[in-house]
Amino acid sequence: MSSSSFKFNTFHFYIIIFILQVFAATPILSDNSSFNDFLDIAKSPEVFDWMMSMRRKIHENPELGYEEFETSKLIRSELDKMDIPYKHPVAITGVIGFIGTGLSPFVALRADMDALPMQEMVEWEHKSKVAGKMHACGHDAHVTMLLGAAKILKHHEKEIQGTVVLVFQPAEEGGGGATKILDAGVLENVTAIFGLHIDPNVPIGEVASKSGPILAGSGFFEAKISGKGGHAAIPQQAIDPILAASNVIISLQHLVSREADPLDSQVVTIAKFQGGSAFNVIPDYVTIGGTFRAFSKQSFNQLRQRIEEVIIGQAAVHRCNATVDFLDGVKPFYPPTVNNGDLHEHFVNVAVNMLGINKVNKAMTPVMGSEDFSFYQQAVPGYFFILGVKNSEHKPKSFLHSPYLEINEDGLPYGAALHASLASTYLLKHQQDDERKYHDEL
Ligand SMILES: [Zn+2]
Ligand SMILES: [Zn+2]
Repeated sequence: MSSSSFKFNTFHFYIIIFILQVFAATPILSDNSSFNDFLDIAKSPEVFDWMMSMRRKIHENPELGYEEFETSKLIRSELDKMDIPYKHPVAITGVIGFIGTGLSPFVALRADMDALPMQEMVEWEHKSKVAGKMHACGHDAHVTMLLGAAKILKHHEKEIQGTVVLVFQPAEEGGGGATKILDAGVLENVTAIFGLHIDPNVPIGEVASKSGPILAGSGFFEAKISGKGGHAAIPQQAIDPILAASNVIISLQHLVSREADPLDSQVVTIAKFQGGSAFNVIPDYVTIGGTFRAFSKQSFNQLRQRIEEVIIGQAAVHRCNATVDFLDGVKPFYPPTVNNGDLHEHFVNVAVNMLGINKVNKAMTPVMGSEDFSFYQQAVPGYFFILGVKNSEHKPKSFLHSPYLEINEDGLPYGAALHASLASTYLLKHQQDDERKYHDEL
């Protein structure tokens, strides 16, 4: 074949492909427009009432990290009813569901399942039935919204251009369930992951997020400051760890106020101080503990190093010995939650299309809280956003991790529809990208 005839043939080939694509594009676009009714489906009494009953069931039976056995069972029985295949157990109680073609591209949606060890103080019909445990971070709503999304997506399965991977994850609250899900290798082909968190201070139908860092990285530490116990009236014969620990705490405050860049947000909080049991006895030792937060790895590592140096050095000033434990095995470090820029654009398009431009805060102020969603983002491009579940009545004590948290269930359809829409339109876009790449390669 001569090169000129090759060019001629290739040119015609491209024209044919172009024509085929134009015709092929028509049904795909009309499929896309059928994705627009997700919010209506989610709000329909059939889906909404079902979601409400799911959320209430999960709320009544809260389970702590890696103990979400009943929650996991409920999820699996609902997936069975919807004829959605899944893997289980993953990371002890985790469930990974699949909707679509079973082929690439793959996109993941994540919900965390665990509750908190605290007593619910809200008196209502579906109050937690387990003393000392409560869904005070709204993970009951997260599970429900992902089940809602599953229902919507299953209904539209024939139009899904790839595979949606549903990630029901254990142990977000300090247990690092996300790392166990990743270690299980179930997300290997996934090219993007989306997650959301409810916020009782954001109105219903509104969302907030941003590109780049949105939540801080967090770590914990505990230190034992040892002196020499003795009579409180004869301090010269003792080595007082209480005074040493007090100065350690004061000195730790300098890390943020004097050593950190004022434009680089960081936190060091001592939340625990334990020592002594009598008014007239100097104790042998004191235990302090706390958390530190930063938005970059560099600042985070700097804090970690300086916390250790300051505790040991300042204790030595008072003739005390100190050991510092960063609790790596028990409370793993959470990296900062950093949103991918391309996925931010995708999220804004989907959310504005569904909710209207005034309901989408795309430049949210970052928060010093942390999320183990960040572990996924270290493995795949990921995007995390905040969803409003504010009550119409003013509830000043209703915030995350409060025993008075109250969620407005009218927010459930929005979470379900956004999940479903983010995933289905992502696949559509990337399927088209793949096709284009394929044709270019030809
Ligand atoms: Zn929480
Ligand atoms: Zn949470």
